[in-house]
Amino acid sequence: MPDAKAARLYVNGRLLTMSASAGGDADDSIAALDGQIAAIGSHAELRRQYPDAEVIDLDGRLVTPGLIDCHTHIVYGGDRSSEMERRLAGESYESIARAGGGILSTAAATARLDEAALAAAALPRIDALLADGVTTLEIKSGYGLTLAAELRCLQVARHIESLRPLSVRTTYLAAHVVPPRFPGGSDGYVESLCTQYLAAVAASGLAHAVDAYCETIAFSVAQVARVFDCAQSLKLPVKLHADQLSNMHGAALAARYSALSADHLEFTDQAGVGALAEAGTVAVLLPGAFYFLRQQQAPPVSALRQAGVPMAIATDCNPGTSPLCSLLTAMNLAAVQFGLSTAECLAGVTREAARALGVLADRGSIEVGKRCDLAIWNVDQPSALVYSLGSRPLYRRVWGGL
Ligand SMILES: [Zn+2]
Repeated sequence: MPDAKAARLYVNGRLLTMSASAGGDADDSIAALDGQIAAIGSHAELRRQYPDAEVIDLDGRLVTPGLIDCHTHIVYGGDRSSEMERRLAGESYESIARAGGGILSTAAATARLDEAALAAAALPRIDALLADGVTTLEIKSGYGLTLAAELRCLQVARHIESLRPLSVRTTYLAAHVVPPRFPGGSDGYVESLCTQYLAAVAASGLAHAVDAYCETIAFSVAQVARVFDCAQSLKLPVKLHADQLSNMHGAALAARYSALSADHLEFTDQAGVGALAEAGTVAVLLPGAFYFLRQQQAPPVSALRQAGVPMAIATDCNPGTSPLCSLLTAMNLAAVQFGLSTAECLAGVTREAARALGVLADRGSIEVGKRCDLAIWNVDQPSALVYSLGSRPLYRRVWGGL
């Protein structure tokens, strides 16, 4: 077992640091110590500084920060491939949901699995992300129809960290779906969230943030605002599924609460974009869901770009609307469908994804003092990571210096 406390040198790389400060031209090497980046410099320089370090020669390969998937629902039971078949045969999503499909069918399948089985179901999907160079993964709850079931999903998500070498950030997707026959319907459910569930989740320490689904088929602006008031009083940062299927002014709502991110945004208008810019809220684009649902209206990327809103890209890995387990593919989809540049795509799965999770201070770019999470690639130039589909370009993943 290699020792994280001993220095390791990754030498002869082509560093794409994604940091604002330009490094030296001769910087081709990174010293890792105690899981962090201790120094960046030339091969010769770092050899002098760390004469006893283990040396890993990267042979001129491209080195980026480890990738960050900042929006997933990857812990769930069952799958919904049969729903896809029905939709391809012409049935509508709505009629499938009415017949017991949709989110509620995943909730039922999730409830049937114990913790070990839930983790085992998620691992193949997580392994696919690791093979794409992912070192930090956000996982949302939301398929538990009771507080206990939600806590269980968050626990499983945290437990993934002991099964694989990666960092997990957990989000309590408090307002996702109203459990069937819940007393008082959606208002009753929001009432329970605000008087019991959120406090219990905060006390458990199992969630880094709180999320909600603001949509005509989910929760209203007023209901989400109530959930967010409560989350903020518990010192939990918020995120929002916003403006995916209609313009509910979700982006402005997220901005009003200084949300870490507003996600989807297909129907966000100019005022929403302006609000995000002012609040410094990250726009998380989810091109896998856009593709799978065959949506027609893309998010307002040029307006976001012009306003200087940071843009992240994530898989949204979930069984219903984005069964996507490849962050590299998400980059390609964002470029082809939404017109992001290759540089924006790369920033979207590193620096801006870190910002969307509130962890930019310690990851998301290659800088001294940050975690030594790296992805090392068999490609000639960075754009090749966005260009191809299914080519498995990862050479090696480094998590915490190892
Ligand atoms: Zn989502």
